Order: sequence, then C-alpha cells, then structure tokens
Amino acid sequence: MQEYIYAADCYCEACGEAIRARLAAEGSAPTDPDDEHSYDSDDYPKGPYDASERDYPGHCASGPDCLAPTEMADGTKVGQFFENDLTTDGVNYVNAAIRENPNNKVVQLWARFYADSHNGILPLPDDLPSPYFDRFDVCEAHAVLEWDWNVGGILQERPTNERRNRSTDVQLHAMRFRPSPMLNYDRLSENGKAIYWHNVYAWGLKTRSEASK
Ligand SMILES: [Zn+2]
Repeated sequence: MQEYIYAADCYCEACGEAIRARLAAEGSAPTDPDDEHSYDSDDYPKGPYDASERDYPGHCASGPDCLAPTEMADGTKVGQFFENDLTTDGVNYVNAAIRENPNNKVVQLWARFYADSHNGILPLPDDLPSPYFDRFDVCEAHAVLEWDWNVGGILQERPTNERRNRSTDVQLHAMRFRPSPMLNYDRLSENGKAIYWHNVYAWGLKTRSEASK
C-alpha cells in the first residue's frame, strides 16, 4: 500500500489526495507539489510512498472516516491497513495484541495477514483445532514447551512446576517419557501443536524477547 505523510501522521492515498485537494481549494497548495523540497509535510501531504517498515501495523490516520477504509468481517470500518512490513518490535507488538485481545477483529486481521510473511507471529486461538487428550501428544507438547519457553531450566509459568520446583523434563522422565532428540515444534502432531498453544495462552507465556524487557 502507499501512504502520504501529513502533519506527523500517515494517510492512505485517497485521504492524502483529498487533503491535497482541500488545501488547493483553500489556496494553500505549494506552487509545485512534485518538488517536495519546496514545502514541509506539516503544510502539505508528501507522497505517496510505499508503506514503510514499522514497529506496529500501520493504518490511515483518518480512522473510521477514511475514504478507502479496511472493512472487517462484521462490517466495522477502520483506517486503511497499510500492510507494512514489521520490525522485531512490530512482531512483539502484534503478539502482545493477539495474547491480550485475540477476539478483536483488527487484531485478527493483523494476525492472519502477518502469519505467512513474518516468523514468530502467534497463531490465533480461534484458528487452532481443539486439543484432545492423547498421552503421547501431551508429553511431546510439554517437552517442546519446556525447551522453547524455559527460564533458567524451569518453565516458571507452569503452576505445578512452581509448586514442585522441578522442571517439566524431570517430570516427563518420571513418567518414563523420553522425547526424541529430533523433536521440535515443527515435528509435533497437529494435536500436539494445539496442546502447545493452548498452554502458551493458558499460562500467559511471553516470547523470549518480550520476557527480557
Ligand atoms: Zn484513509
């Protein structure tokens, strides 16, 4: 998507051009709008530029009044989504939003849009199959959870770990479960992945980069 920059905000093409037309009608347009060095973006919209990489998903600053809004499945309109690339902070921003408001339509729009293009975006709980009890899947999922999310060897957030003060690894060993050394998230069964994410959400686990803040 393309965007205009005006008065320290970003607008979609339609809104940026409307602002330009309004300013022109008021006699406030620069002599040569194509010569961007001749005016300041505080006075007249500059652009359009390709949407830039950001620390968050960008939307047109006109919000619900946007002339080319992005429409949610339920008919709600929001400022046009720029579909910009995300920085690492941007991925964390989207993940925090998914964890806090997984049912919010805008959050779902971001989650589904970025899932394919950006590594580490959390899957939406709605998109996961319902986990069912399978002892092997449970053991594998817990082993991978431990490897992926442990802090100092112990998955602190798991209530029984705090109570027993022992790692999932030790507990699985006590259950005579020996995970394959080749095991990782990608090798979990679909049910194993569902169990994995169910627990990430249930325990409120944070990604490493979020936890280190
Ligand atoms: Zn707009």
